[in-house]
Amino acid sequence: MLIKNATIITWTKPNQILSDYAVLIQGQKIARLAPQIQLEAEYPHEPVLDAHGQLLMPGLICAHTHFYGAFSRGLAIPNPAPSQFSEILEKLWWPLDQSLDLDDVRVSSEVCMIDAIKHGNTLLFDHHASPNAIDGSLDAIRDAFAETGLRGVECYEVTDRGGVIKADAGIAENVRMIHEVKDGQNLQGRLAATFGLHAGLTLSDETLDKCRVAADGLSGFHIHVAEHQIDEFNSLEKYGLRVIDRLKEFDILGENTIVAHGVHLDMREAEILAETGTWLSQQPRSNMNNAVGLADVESMLRLGIKVCMGNDGFSNAMWDEWRTCYLAHKLIHRDPRRMNGGSVIEMGVYSNALLAQRFFPNTTGLGTIQQDAPADLILVDYEPITEMTPGNLPWQILFGFRDSMVTMTMVDGAVLMRDRQLTTIDEHKVIFEARKRSKDVWERYQKMF
Ligand SMILES: [Zn+2]
Repeated sequence: MLIKNATIITWTKPNQILSDYAVLIQGQKIARLAPQIQLEAEYPHEPVLDAHGQLLMPGLICAHTHFYGAFSRGLAIPNPAPSQFSEILEKLWWPLDQSLDLDDVRVSSEVCMIDAIKHGNTLLFDHHASPNAIDGSLDAIRDAFAETGLRGVECYEVTDRGGVIKADAGIAENVRMIHEVKDGQNLQGRLAATFGLHAGLTLSDETLDKCRVAADGLSGFHIHVAEHQIDEFNSLEKYGLRVIDRLKEFDILGENTIVAHGVHLDMREAEILAETGTWLSQQPRSNMNNAVGLADVESMLRLGIKVCMGNDGFSNAMWDEWRTCYLAHKLIHRDPRRMNGGSVIEMGVYSNALLAQRFFPNTTGLGTIQQDAPADLILVDYEPITEMTPGNLPWQILFGFRDSMVTMTMVDGAVLMRDRQLTTIDEHKVIFEARKRSKDVWERYQKMF
């Protein structure tokens, strides 16, 4: 397929904005990026996708999300309203995830994936919990990835909150999926798996040790870290160590590990993340909603930490997440010079792409438009009202782009949405099923109080 009449943003370094160029897709890859006249002459019979002047860009990547949380939308949390983070876990997320069965997990994933495709996400790192439906839950999510055609990384968040048997089941679910993916049940290379852990505050030393042994040589980890002070307080009180120091003792950190949030890390913990090459994903919309504060990601970038961006299940609108990052750091520091647009791009584009490349090592240039990169692409219906240059692109995006401007989403060369019409999944059928299932989930949730 030849994608022509597009303005192409490559997200290579340095970034390029190319007019009069076209992209040739062959199989799952970008086979050529060359002047349009040249490709039209060389491939006169190639099927054409006419962009009609839209922007062609690499698809958006989300480094941390929770597909299981979809049915929280509109859910009534019993009074009184949670006054701090641990109450949000106890009154919202924990009773909600306990109310899910395997079909709920699949449908909850499908609605999130539909949202993701419509808003230009092509790869999401999911962090899953369903304590009353652990075995097979990662298959349910894999089924949704298979159906929608998205690229993904899965894991199950192991925790002690349901006792030893459920912690062991979580470990087994991670190990099984990691093996299956390695053995080729990976959706033609679109699926990767890692080892999920909930957070230090719900993991005993015994369980962390079991996870270390089970993951040894197989995989890194994906874990919440210092989202609220309670994670640090709990760790200091029970183990005499700050969270990151404790995770380091259990070999949880490293170049294949993602820690989410890191809002309350001290300087030494940040330094350890840099030393170990651990990835940190920040989610400012979720942090604001939970009123937990913001990670000092500008200092973390200066330390050399690989800071990525996720959405924490808040909604699959990554440009909203970028914009929130841009605004929230200015506000919290009361300094409009903070959080340069370029820093947002450094995290949301470049770090996320490097993270993606780490998890899909058989690809080249994932997250960029260049020859041999996987064809994970979007078209954006954005007409700049001022001259758009590589230098001002961050601000064109932060002040001009809306996630609903995405009109086409492609993963591995397959079109998942064209002219805003989904091609792989019946949105209305899924929404109908979601409404029905969410009602039952809500009933089970309310019975927990
Ligand atoms: Zn999270």
